[in-house]
Amino acid sequence: MKRDVDIDEISDGCRYRSGDMVKIGCAECKGCSECCRQVDDTIILDPYDIYQLCKGLDSSFDKLMSEEPEPSIELGHADGLLLPHLKLSKASGGCTFLSNEGRCTIHSFRPGFCRLYPLGRIYEDGSFSYFIQIHECPYPNKSKVKIKKWLGIDNLPAYEAFILKWHDILDDARSNLSGINDQSERSRYIVAFLKRFYQTPYDTEVDFYTQFEERFNS
Ligand code: SF4
Ligand code: SF4
Repeated sequence: MKRDVDIDEISDGCRYRSGDMVKIGCAECKGCSECCRQVDDTIILDPYDIYQLCKGLDSSFDKLMSEEPEPSIELGHADGLLLPHLKLSKASGGCTFLSNEGRCTIHSFRPGFCRLYPLGRIYEDGSFSYFIQIHECPYPNKSKVKIKKWLGIDNLPAYEAFILKWHDILDDARSNLSGINDQSERSRYIVAFLKRFYQTPYDTEVDFYTQFEERFNS
């Protein structure tokens, strides 16, 4: 989601690449689960997140949206589109994937924003870099860690290429929507976008990026 903030106010002013070391290590959170309790509607999920969740939980987009006793994701308005995000648990007030012991129960396939935190991404000149959100994560005496290791994502070059393309796709969708004034036509566009990139099931036995490219080109 686009944020209208002054990057100098929320960062140390530096841009980083995935091979850089940054001071964000928090000793595996050691009993803290603060950021997982304040997710609100901010952890917006991209198609790769949905693929990972469906694969890890042997589920589907529709099941994640409707499972009992509580769905783990829900739809929200973001940048004019309807996009899925992690849902707060009515029972605990935190992420539905947070255990009573304050641990993430889907750690190995958690969403990209969870992996990133407290880093952010800034898109400039047809590329993106990482920055540290200096007002996030109160853990003291943070250690240095390589961003690549922090993210812990297989095939990071392919993932980063996807992230950049997804950013452009969202930009294009926003731009297309701004040219549609008819309300029912806008609704049709939004629903078709959701169906194309999220709701139509991905085959979790097949590489994600190949399937994403097929949808992009369809
Ligand atoms: S706020 Fe920092 S230390 Fe606490 S759970 Fe989040 S990342 Fe870990
Ligand atoms: S998915 Fe895991 S890491 Fe992300 S907010 Fe939920 S409990 Fe925290």
